[in-house]
Amino acid sequence: MSDSKCDSQFYSVQVADSTFTVLKRYQQLKPIGSGAQGIVCAAFDTVLGINVAVKKLSRPFQNQTHAKRAYRELVLLKCVNHKNIISLLNVFTPQKSLEEFQDVYLVMELMDANLCQVIHMELDHERMSYLLYQMLCGIKHLHSAGIIHRDLKPSNIVVKSDCTLKILDFGLARTACTNFMMTPYVVTRYYRAPEVILGMGYKENVDIWSVGCIMGELVKGCVIFQGTDHTGDEVMESLETPENVFSALLFMVSWEKSCSSQARDLLSKMLVVDPDKRISVDEALRHPYITVWYDPAEAEAPPPQIYDAQLEEREHAIEEWKELIYKEVMDWEERSKNGVVKDQPSAQMQQ
Ligand code: AMP
Repeated sequence: MSDSKCDSQFYSVQVADSTFTVLKRYQQLKPIGSGAQGIVCAAFDTVLGINVAVKKLSRPFQNQTHAKRAYRELVLLKCVNHKNIISLLNVFTPQKSLEEFQDVYLVMELMDANLCQVIHMELDHERMSYLLYQMLCGIKHLHSAGIIHRDLKPSNIVVKSDCTLKILDFGLARTACTNFMMTPYVVTRYYRAPEVILGMGYKENVDIWSVGCIMGELVKGCVIFQGTDHTGDEVMESLETPENVFSALLFMVSWEKSCSSQARDLLSKMLVVDPDKRISVDEALRHPYITVWYDPAEAEAPPPQIYDAQLEEREHAIEEWKELIYKEVMDWEERSKNGVVKDQPSAQMQQ
């Protein structure tokens, strides 16, 4: 626990129906989004002089699903450092002891919009292919650390107006209890690969299916596999009929722009139900539509080292989760006090 922590370091502000109690360095909080874990605000960091995103995790240890997700996210955000994965700038809790511990705040670099907000824009092929390239680089980097996402969707991908892109989260844990949440939050499954929805075995190119759904949506302007937000048999029924796959691809016929044949070719290789016939991440990165952007420093970055070898398998009682998460927050606070955590925006962010 940090001895020096006192109430005067924090202030409280009402955001939507939640109270944010944040370090005074973070000012002008404005809500910009909400997800399964809670509300996200934009804020101005008066120490670094930059805009940031502040995400509040309310009582992240309240049940198994929240706890596992929060702990995994915290550990992975600390370990992963890649330009296409969101980077963590700060972590804190306003509570002063494990007994009082309630909420965690994650401070991240601020992006302009999530991909849902980009879906309705007309994208030229330069932008479209660059967005896809960056998604693939981020995904490949996660794969290199053994993290297979399985839940990529437009709301978990954020972009800036300069067309840079970052993945916001780390998807499903290998042993996640994914269908049950104690919140009214609806889990979107439109982008999940058939093998995930059916609970079958999967390999890395499970994430390619999601990229294909997102690409199709960027082209078409709306969700392409609406019918797949179901479970079990309904999914196979909707996917097995060739009409459904064709209808999802038919719109491409009217897509008359330069090099659209390359885009069409890539999309048709990503949206393949059989994973053994679906294109791999490496093949997609080398596809003519994408490879123009290829830079080994981005596409072949050294894998992150994950310091918790049991990360995916952990099962704990609520009190143990509370302590584990609290320790992670304290570890960050200690390291930042000792100057181990960077307190300047990284070179990557300044680009
Ligand atoms: P999450 O709770 O991480 O699923 O985020 C919910 C929403 O908040 C996202 O869909 C984004 O619209 C927004 N958001 C989260 N983090 C950021 C960020 N670092 N920059 C910009 N928007 C963000």
